[in-house]
Order: sequence, then C-alpha cells, then structure tokens
Amino acid sequence: MKNRPHAQEPRQQAREGGHALAQATGACLAAAALLAPAAQAADEPAAMPVGFVHLTDVAQTVRLDIRYHGSANFLGRPVAGYDAPTCILTEPAARKLLGVQRELLAQGLTLKVFDCYRPQRAVNDFVAWTRDGSHQPTKAEYFPHVAKESLLDLGYIAERSGHSRGSTVDLTLAAIDPSRADALPTKGPLLPNGEVDMGTPFDLFDVKSHTDHPDLPEVVRHNRQFLKDLMAKHGFRNLPEEWWHYTLDDEPYPDTYFNFPVR
Ligand SMILES: [Zn+2]
Repeated sequence: MKNRPHAQEPRQQAREGGHALAQATGACLAAAALLAPAAQAADEPAAMPVGFVHLTDVAQTVRLDIRYHGSANFLGRPVAGYDAPTCILTEPAARKLLGVQRELLAQGLTLKVFDCYRPQRAVNDFVAWTRDGSHQPTKAEYFPHVAKESLLDLGYIAERSGHSRGSTVDLTLAAIDPSRADALPTKGPLLPNGEVDMGTPFDLFDVKSHTDHPDLPEVVRHNRQFLKDLMAKHGFRNLPEEWWHYTLDDEPYPDTYFNFPVR
C-alpha cells in the first residue's frame, strides 16, 4: 500500500469527495501538518494524536463491541492495529455521539458501537486477507452471496476507509432494559442480545445491508430510518450501502488517513 498513494475508497469517494473544502480549525491544521499522509503511514508515531479521544471518556454509557479486536468479524481473527477493544474518534465526532446518546437514553435505548477510528494498517490487513487464498470459515456468516476474491472489486472492502480519518463510526441501537421492548420507539422484537432488529448483522456484505433496501420487513425499515434520522439530526450522514456506517458531516480531517494503533 505504501506505493499506492492514489488508492481511494470507491464507494465513499463519490459521496464524500465534496468535503475536501470542510473548514478545519487552526489547531486541526497544525496537528495535520505534523502527520505523514497515509502513504507514509507506517512511519507515524504510535501515540494517539491531539484531537482524538476515547469515546467512553466523552460518552461513558455508550456500549462497545469492537469486533475487529476479537475474532467475531469477517476475517475470523483479530485485525492488525486493534491492540485494545476501545473506540477512538476525533473529539468533534465523540461529542456529537454524546448528543445522540443523551437522546437515546431518555427513550430507553443506547448506542452500541462496532468500530470507530480504524488504522490504515487494519485496512491493509483487510485487503491482504481478500487476496490470501485461505479457506473461508466466515463466508456463510458475512458474505454468503459474494466471492471472497470479489469483495474488493465490488466495493465491500477498499484500500482506504473513511474510518481511518477518525470521524466515522459503525453502530446499532440496543435496549437498556430488554424486558421493556414494547415501550421503545423502535419496532419489533429485540434480538436475543438486546439489540434492535436492523434486518442484517453488522458487516453482512449483501444488498440487504443497504439502508433503504426495499425488500425488508416494515419494522426493520422503521428501525433503520429511526437511527438514520437521529444521527442526521446530530450531524452524521449514513453510507447508503451499510445501515450501520455513519460519518460526521463536518469531519476535522477530511483528507488524512491515520495509522496509529487502537489502544
Ligand atoms: Zn463503517
């Protein structure tokens, strides 16, 4: 990846390209100037840069289920760069999520976060995995209708991810008290783990993960729209291909792909 500075994330590039003009504060510009671009990311220091925070230092009640730290993900193993099961985000993204969480808590719900800032080395690990020719024990669960070798070409995996810019998060909703599901603003029975039914699991590489896919039960469509509306109210836009994926509109580092580890 080191010699491919122009590699882009095709799906998000089209939708996020307009944010290159996003205003950065003086502090952000100063911090960005100290950091190497993603093409030289391997030389970056390991410390978390100024301007990033641990989400649970800002929003203590948000639940974390950091899937790439463990083996419950499409690779079936821990991913490079995830040294701890924690969520790192830019401070503006974390503060906006606190606003989301406060609204949810008042309605008996909580955010449950699957992924946040993602180091470039993790994205590189994804790409290498698609090409390694290994057996596919995770296929049935994560990409039943797509060939592993096609995941890059189809855009499910890309050589760069908006997550590496630090203001993108993958999440769902869960009930604080699953025994009171009928009092929630979301619809349908909860999943056994207390999550709201969003129709597909996180990271299912399938058209049914498209947020507005028409062939889904009404309760699922309602729940996805409820999340999308709430996140939009707090400044996050959804990636149409993934109901769980949200990026801060006014992200502070729209052009920088970081590589420091998650720890
Ligand atoms: Zn995502």
